[in-house]
Amino acid sequence: MLARLHAAAVFGVEALPVSVEVDVSGGGLPGITMVGLPDTTVRESRDRVRSAIRNSGFPFPVGRVTVSLAPADVRKIGAAFDLPIALGILAASGILPQRDGREMTIVGGLSLDGGIPPMRGVLPIAVAARKAPKPALVFPAANLAEAGIVADLPLFPVASLNDAVRVLSISDPASATPPLPAVVQGPASAEDMADVCGQLRGRRALEIAAAGSHHLLFSGSPGAGKTMLARRLPGLLPPLEFDEALLVTSIHSIAGLLSPGSGLVVTRPFRAPHHTCSDMALVGGGASPRPGEVSLAHAGVLFLDELPEFSRRVLETLRQPLEAGVVHVARVARSVTFPARVMLVGAMNPCPCGFHGDARRPCHCPPLLVERYQRRLSGPLRDRFDLGVEVQGVPWGDISGDPVRETSAVVRGRVYAARRRQLDRQGRLNSELDGRALRAHVPLDRPSHVLMATAVTRLGLSVRGVTRVLRVARTIADLAGDQELRADHVAEALQFRVPERSASST
Ligand SMILES: [Zn+2]
Repeated sequence: MLARLHAAAVFGVEALPVSVEVDVSGGGLPGITMVGLPDTTVRESRDRVRSAIRNSGFPFPVGRVTVSLAPADVRKIGAAFDLPIALGILAASGILPQRDGREMTIVGGLSLDGGIPPMRGVLPIAVAARKAPKPALVFPAANLAEAGIVADLPLFPVASLNDAVRVLSISDPASATPPLPAVVQGPASAEDMADVCGQLRGRRALEIAAAGSHHLLFSGSPGAGKTMLARRLPGLLPPLEFDEALLVTSIHSIAGLLSPGSGLVVTRPFRAPHHTCSDMALVGGGASPRPGEVSLAHAGVLFLDELPEFSRRVLETLRQPLEAGVVHVARVARSVTFPARVMLVGAMNPCPCGFHGDARRPCHCPPLLVERYQRRLSGPLRDRFDLGVEVQGVPWGDISGDPVRETSAVVRGRVYAARRRQLDRQGRLNSELDGRALRAHVPLDRPSHVLMATAVTRLGLSVRGVTRVLRVARTIADLAGDQELRADHVAEALQFRVPERSASST
C-alpha cells in the first residue's frame, strides 16, 4: 500500500514543500529502502524510525518498505523527515486511518523512544505551510511559540509519535493556541547610552552612524570603551518592522539559535564574532547551508573587534556580502541566498601594544611597527568605513563630574527623524548614495566647496574619501534638520573621516 504525506525543507531562509511517499509491499526482503538518500542519513533515520515505531507500541511492517522524498535534492536535510516517514509507514501498513490529516504539513525528528525533540527552521516551515493546499502544521511541541508567529495557521504541536498518530487519527482535531507573542515597544536593550561616561566623540559618531547607516571604525587602546560603545548601536536604530523581524527570527531559527519558547525576535541583532573565526562562520555555507555571522547580524550590527587580527582571507569573503547585502551559497543542486544587510562596526588598537597615542600608558612600539600594524587593514576594507573615531579612555575627573546623560530613547528619536528626511528626499539612506546621487542630493555651497578643496589638498583625500565625507556631512545636516548642506556640517564630517593609508603613520 502506498501512502503520501506532506513535509517541508528549509532552503536558505525559505522552506519548500516536500512530498514523502512510503510503499509497504508484502514481497521481497524485509527492510527499509530510502530512494536517493545518502547512506549515513538513511542508516540513522532508518534506525530512529524503526525504534520509535516499536517503542511507541506499534508493529513494524513485515514486508519491504520503500521511502522516497521529492524533490530529490532535499536529501541532505535529514532529521526533520523522521516523523513524516514514520507516519507514512504506519499509514501504508494500514495502522493509520485514511483521513485528511495526511494533507497537513508534517515535520519533526524522532528519538529512539518515540519522542520529538525541538528542531531548527520551524518559522520558515510554518510560513510555507500556510501557503499549502491544506494550511495546517504538525510539528515539535517545543517550537510552539515560534510556529505561533505565523497567523491563521492551524497548529498541531506534538511531543511524541503517539501524539502525532492521535492528531492524524481523529477527524477534526482541535488546533493549539500559541502563547501570546511578547509585545515589546522598540528595542529593549539593556545597554543604554545613559550608562556611557564621557566619550562625547564616540557617542556622536554612534549617533551619526545610526542616522545614516554608515559603517563605523573605532580606534583606541584596550579598555577605552570601543566594545561598550558598539554594543549600544542596535538600541539607537529604529525598531524592526514586522517583515524584518520575521526574517531575523527565521535566520536565527535556521541557525538553531532561538532560545526555547521564544517567539518573534524584535530587537536588532548584535553579533561579535571572534577574530579567529573561519570564513564559513563569518559568511555561512556548508553542505546543508547555514547562515553565517553576517546573516545572523542582518538588520542589526556586525561588530568586528581587533579587526587587523582577522585573517585577510576571512575578511575578503565579507566584501561581496557587504556590497550586495546578501550572501550567495552556490551548490550544485540548489543555490541559496541569505540576507546580510548589516551595519559594520570595526574596532582596532592603534599599534601592537595598543597604547599608541594614549595618555594613560606609554607605547614602546617602533614607529615602523605601528605603521605596519595599521596597514594590516586592507584598502578595500578601509574603504567600507564612512566614519572613523578615536576612542580615548575616560580620565577619572570625567567619570565623577559627568553631566546628565542622554538616554538611547532620546538619541533614537533624532536618528528616526533624520532617517525619515533621507527617505523622503532620496528614497534611501545616505550611506547608499553613490557619486552621482551625491551630486544630485548633496549640492555644495561656496564655503563647503572651498573647505572640501582644501581638505583634498591638505589631507590628500582621494575621490572615494571625498564621497565618504560628503555622505557623512549630509547625515550630520539631516540630524540637525537642515535642508542645505553647510560648511560646518562638512567640517564635522572631516573630523570623523577614516585616515587613508598614506596618512596612517602619524
Ligand atoms: Zn604600542
